[in-house]
Amino acid sequence: MKPWQRHQVHRALEQRRKTLLDELKRDAARLREERSGDVGDIGDESVSDLLVDLDQAELSRDAAELREIEAARRRLDDGTHGICVDCGVAIPYGRLLYEPAAERCIECQTRHEKTYRR
Ligand SMILES: [Zn+2]
Repeated sequence: MKPWQRHQVHRALEQRRKTLLDELKRDAARLREERSGDVGDIGDESVSDLLVDLDQAELSRDAAELREIEAARRRLDDGTHGICVDCGVAIPYGRLLYEPAAERCIECQTRHEKTYRR
């Protein structure tokens, strides 16, 4: 991945992460209210604490996507993001812009989903 592409993918990841975090915080806050009647501000709570709460709240789909994004950010940091984890080819830049947390090329992703259908 070229530096400017890496930059764009990073931006797409951060935007998606922010949207997802906002949604998850709202949901987590609502669930806490429902459970305890406690209307507290989540504030700058760490993401890992949030994820623990969300596991308990069974908001598993959004939480799973957030985990994928966190993993993609780490891969971007260590320079391995954009390489298919299954076959090792470069994931097309267009796919990464559309789905910045993608860890597989389209062929491998399709095969993966057939194998582990949710
Ligand atoms: Zn692949």
